[in-house]
Amino acid sequence: GRRHGLPRRLPGQRGGTGKPLMRRAVALVGIGKIALDQHVPALSSSSCLHLAATVSRSGTVGGVPAFTSLDTMFAAHPEVEVVSLCLPPVPRFAAAEAALRAGRHVMLEKPPGATLAEVQALQALAALRGLTLYATWHSRMARGVAAAKAWLAGRVVTGARIDWREDVRRWHPGQDWVFEPGGMGVFDPGINALSILTEILPAPVHLQSAVLEVPANRQTPIAAELQFSGGVSAGFDWRQVGPQVWDIVVDTADGARMALRMGGKVLEVDGLPVAGAADIMGEYPALYAAMAGLVAAGWSEVDLSPMVHVADAMTLGRRKVVAAFHF
Ligand code: NAP
Repeated sequence: GRRHGLPRRLPGQRGGTGKPLMRRAVALVGIGKIALDQHVPALSSSSCLHLAATVSRSGTVGGVPAFTSLDTMFAAHPEVEVVSLCLPPVPRFAAAEAALRAGRHVMLEKPPGATLAEVQALQALAALRGLTLYATWHSRMARGVAAAKAWLAGRVVTGARIDWREDVRRWHPGQDWVFEPGGMGVFDPGINALSILTEILPAPVHLQSAVLEVPANRQTPIAAELQFSGGVSAGFDWRQVGPQVWDIVVDTADGARMALRMGGKVLEVDGLPVAGAADIMGEYPALYAAMAGLVAAGWSEVDLSPMVHVADAMTLGRRKVVAAFHF
């Protein structure tokens, strides 16, 4: 039906101020860096969804009703159908469970939880209640990823190398939670690379060994080197100053080399750029469009495969203590 078609504007509505009809109401929870950088702009450009309320202890969004608890938000905004959670992974589970119990569809930032089993518990709860649970992987929506997957389909992969090296002080300024248990350390960005890898490879791989470099004063790795089956390896490092590197290079049996650079935004084959679809959406608008589609269809999407690799690295990895880290 029309429910998720392009919204109509009422005569006399001014662009950006009037709410188009039929957009589902969304509450955004955990108003911090990613909520403000990406979720708020993506929602304001959405034709299917609109931001109706926020829940955060101190964060707010101008012009949007703000609450500090989910319960008071639900009481004031019964029309909210979708709850999008931008909290760090450890506090996210309780909020996700409460939203599902309150009969709302739930969208999870990556990584979808602090543990695999808690995400499976959310999956079971959503299924029981007939609600949508969407575990998002924003990097899978990067411009080159679908084309890379299509290019690799039917090819035999002989090896792959991931290099994901960025400056934690630049991308996570002062965010101590990333170095606390459940914060995942360098796997917080590294899982983005693994979300692309698991999306594009024609056959799955599994971890065989790992070295985790953990600062002497912290709980989670600041760097990791991973060896997978099938000649696939990955290096993650949060101490990179200067040019930032988010590359995945894949070799195939027909002698060709495919590279995804800039976190999946640029696709190259044998060193030459492959033109992507010009009209493709940004990563977060694409996530919200996908969420609207899942809710309309009554489906869930939860792929834990990127997080399985992280859990395996934490299980199997050899721990190496390195210099203390201070922001
Ligand atoms: P953040 O800014 O540190 O935290 C988001 C908000 O969550 C905070 O502003 C805080 O709001 C609330 N919060 C933090 N700790 C909490 C706790 N213990 N209990 C309850 N609420 C808490 O984090 P972020 O960078 O936005 O990242 C959030 C999630 O998005 C992570 O899973 C991350 O992997 C993902 N993500 C981040 C980025 C990025 O560039 N930073 C990119 C993509 C995805 P109040 O104090 O107002 O409650």
